[in-house]
Amino acid sequence: MFENAPKDVDNAIVTGKSGAGKQPRIDVLVDEYDLEQLSTGDIFRSYLKKANEFDHQGDISELWDDKKESFVSDKEISKKIGTEKEDIILGLKAKYFVDRGKFVPDHITNELFESYFRKKDYRNQVLDGYPRTLDQAKYLLEIMEKKDFEIDFIVWVRNTDEKIIERTVKRRICPDCGKVYHLKYDPPEDGKCKECGVDVIQRSDDTEEKIRSRLQEFQEKTKPMLEFLGSKIPVAEVPGHLEEFTPENVKKSVMSELEKL
Ligand SMILES: [Zn+2]
Repeated sequence: MFENAPKDVDNAIVTGKSGAGKQPRIDVLVDEYDLEQLSTGDIFRSYLKKANEFDHQGDISELWDDKKESFVSDKEISKKIGTEKEDIILGLKAKYFVDRGKFVPDHITNELFESYFRKKDYRNQVLDGYPRTLDQAKYLLEIMEKKDFEIDFIVWVRNTDEKIIERTVKRRICPDCGKVYHLKYDPPEDGKCKECGVDVIQRSDDTEEKIRSRLQEFQEKTKPMLEFLGSKIPVAEVPGHLEEFTPENVKKSVMSELEKL
C-alpha cells in the first residue's frame, strides 16, 4: 500500500486553518514515519514552565530596553538574573510578552523554536503551528541551510470556513474528563457528560467571533507563508472534511496525496 509515498522522512510540516482537522493527519505521519509532533503550543508551555520554576525575584521589564524596543543583550540578561542557562533566558523573554497579553513577535517565536528543534537534532519532527508567518518561514529556510536538515513536504489540511465554524461552534467539552462532544454529531446527554454526569461547557476559544478572527489570521499571515514555502518544499493538499471519518479513510486521504508528490 502507498508504495509511491516518500519512504524516509526527516521532517514534515502540517498546516491549515485553525479547526481544519490537523491533528488526525499529524497522527498519520507520526505513525507512518515514526516521527514526533513538535507543536508551538508545547514549546511555549515548556519554556514558560522553566521561567516560572526559576522564580526570578526581580522585575522582568528590566530585561527590556524601551528605547531600542528590544531585549537587552543575553549577556546583560544573564548578569541581571544570575544564570546563563539559555532555556531560562528564552523562557523569561516569552513570559515578558505573555504576562502582558502582548502578541509574541516572530523573532522570539523563532528563537524558541530553533532552540527546541536543536534539542531534537533537527530530525524526525512534524512541525505543528510553525511556521505560521512569512518571516518565520524565511527563518526556517535559513536554519535549514545552516544546520543541514530537510523538510520533506508540507501537508496542507484544507477545509471551508463554513465547515470549520459548524464544527467548532457546536463543540462542547467536559470540564472534568475533557471528553469532546458535538451538539449535532455526538451530543451530550441532557447537556451532561455521559461519563461524569457534569454539565459540558463551551471553550472560550470556540465562539464564532474568535473562530472568525483565527480564520482571518490564516488568510493574512499563513496563506502568504504557504505560497512562499510552497515554492521551495512540495505541498500535499489533503481534505480536512471526509464524508466518512474513519482512521482508514484519514490515512488514505493523506498517503494517497503524498504519493503524488
Ligand atoms: Zn466527563
